[in-house]
Amino acid sequence: MEKKQSLKKPLNANSSIGKTIAVLSGKGGVGKSMVTGLLASEMKRRNKEVGVLDADILGPSVPKIFGTDGTVFQTEKGIRPLKTSTGIDIMSVNSILESPTDPVLWRAPVVGNMLTTFWSDVNWGKKDYLFIDMPPGTGDVALTVFQTMTVDGIVIVTSPQDLVSMIVEKAIKMAKMMGLPVIGIVENMQYFIAPDTGVRYDIFGVSKTAAIAEEKGIPYLGALPIDPKLAQCADKGRIEDYEVDSLSAIVDEIEKFK
Ligand code: ADP
Repeated sequence: MEKKQSLKKPLNANSSIGKTIAVLSGKGGVGKSMVTGLLASEMKRRNKEVGVLDADILGPSVPKIFGTDGTVFQTEKGIRPLKTSTGIDIMSVNSILESPTDPVLWRAPVVGNMLTTFWSDVNWGKKDYLFIDMPPGTGDVALTVFQTMTVDGIVIVTSPQDLVSMIVEKAIKMAKMMGLPVIGIVENMQYFIAPDTGVRYDIFGVSKTAAIAEEKGIPYLGALPIDPKLAQCADKGRIEDYEVDSLSAIVDEIEKFK
């Protein structure tokens, strides 16, 4: 039988990464980048060495929420990522473009090459965790990420208005195809707590996500609220300042993933 050639690329020689975690969503706008940023920030608060690889090449928002503008430069040991205020390393297409407002109008092979560069030509140094902000959906670019990079597990982000059942099924199928474990589901924007009264509102109705996760045999890691404070932190490029109890519980679960 013909032996299948692995398309996986090696990391840059100066990099070593404990766990690489891909953060996936069914469609855009559910808060995938936000959750990626929050997970990375909480891990960093736990004194872990953390990197974020922004694989959402066509809609990069990682540099904005971390407030890392500027461009990366090449050194003898590889491309140095940008550092956030708490010391998280960030690599994004925005750090390569001359102007971050330039639209990225690249065809799939160019995007694929860019992703390979982010993995193999960047000097990530020694990291405990590398979080990958995936392109939305389970399409071509997502597949390229899984084929080129050595990913250890997947976190799925959903929001209550999502067709959760379908998205989860698609993500599970993709994970199976790639032979990867799904670490669990994070439900973003599940509820809203009125800041003046402390009353909780389930704006999109009572969530069924936990039940669906159980039905599909996937861990439900927890939920995050709709919080204008979070949106404000992200807008100011200070996502690392935002803390909420449920985030801590979610990251506890991710730390248990071996
Ligand atoms: P995605 O990466 O899935 O496309 P983003 O993370 O860019 O989505 O989030 C989309 C928008 O929703 C952003 O403007 C962000 O500020 C906002 N947002 C995401 N999650 C929350 C939340 N929990 N509370 C308030 N605003 C949020």
